[in-house]
Amino acid sequence: MKKESYIQKAEEALLHTYNRYPLVLDHGEGVYLYDTDGNEYLDFAAGIAVQALGYHHEEYTKALKEQADKLLHTSNLYYNVPIMNAAERLKKASGMDRVFFTNSGTEAVEGAIKAAKKYAYTRDGHAGHEVIAMNQSFHGRSIGALSVTGNQHYQQPFEPLMPGVKFAEFNQLESVASLVNEKTCAIIFETVQGEGGIYPADMEFIKGVRELCDQHDILLILDEIQCGMGRTGEMFAWQHYGVKPDIMTSAKALGCGVPVGAFLMTEKVAEKSLQPGDHGTTYGGNPFVGAAVDKVLEIMERDQLVRHVKEITPYLEQRLDELVEKYDFLKARRGMGLMQGVVSEKPVGQIAAKAIEKGLLIITAGSDVLRLVPPLIIEKNHVDEMLQKLDSVLAEL
Ligand SMILES: *Cc1c(COP(=O)(O)O)cnc(C)c1O
Repeated sequence: MKKESYIQKAEEALLHTYNRYPLVLDHGEGVYLYDTDGNEYLDFAAGIAVQALGYHHEEYTKALKEQADKLLHTSNLYYNVPIMNAAERLKKASGMDRVFFTNSGTEAVEGAIKAAKKYAYTRDGHAGHEVIAMNQSFHGRSIGALSVTGNQHYQQPFEPLMPGVKFAEFNQLESVASLVNEKTCAIIFETVQGEGGIYPADMEFIKGVRELCDQHDILLILDEIQCGMGRTGEMFAWQHYGVKPDIMTSAKALGCGVPVGAFLMTEKVAEKSLQPGDHGTTYGGNPFVGAAVDKVLEIMERDQLVRHVKEITPYLEQRLDELVEKYDFLKARRGMGLMQGVVSEKPVGQIAAKAIEKGLLIITAGSDVLRLVPPLIIEKNHVDEMLQKLDSVLAEL
């Protein structure tokens, strides 16, 4: 079938919640994707920071096939082996104590909020607690996660949202401190803001918020859905800062394409928060996603992908800095590891669209940032190819 027919078919049946690029993807191999016409694309988007291992990773897909043949789903009324292996690995990688698996990032955020509320409820003997979140943040589209997403445009049509959320300025400690009161049960932010425009947390900010939380028995929730799983050069981005959250969320690269998320907490939080009957999920943590997470973590550890990210990052940063230097309308580069943003005064949506025509997938963040979140397995030659393609797009603007 022709591309246009596929697109027409999709637009007739799918709810139009995305303005998609006119690209029908068919299969992938390593860092490359191929469309239904056989065209090749170098992928620096990774399905929005999901495909950390790239595409068609044979060992990974073999593990999925084997599990599919064995057992897909059983519900959480019984135990299964793949998910206990996955949980054990995730605990070890994060230093957290307890894991709850979800089906998406937004559900991980929902669970994190519920855990924090229940903790404060158990401690105080009453409900009615508040959460502090950040402007320009992104935590998901379900009502709870949307309630802590600091974006008026996303929120407004769906109000009233969850009450008791206050918004502070990211990386401004005073702005957070001034919102704390005796009702505050949690402070939530992304260790590196993703959708908002690739802003890493400052060292003083994250340390200051941690202290504030310790002083008032407030729980620090770090959203690692996009920046976690090795992307920044540590397994989880907060591990750069010498602080530890009370609750953290993960998703995106956690399953490398299999839909799975998780929220994790320390034992201290677990003891006083969600108990039998407080939270649940039918699919969450089924044997199939368990096999996926277990294998992803096994491969990342064995192949030392975090170390690889650390090694390749300076090269990517240097090459991007050269590009920013070359074009006046490029204003800055910022980011951590393989989560990089380039600020552009020329329309970023147009740049991303033109890049597709040159065989390069990149995405955008905020209103003026080009976002690069490639598979973690990229090598220098992929960086070079990306730069050559992006440069040719920019030169034509
Ligand atoms: C993508 C994302 C989410 C939402 O995850 P979904 O799987 O799309 O529900 C939440 N927080 C952050 C930081 C994200 O990047």
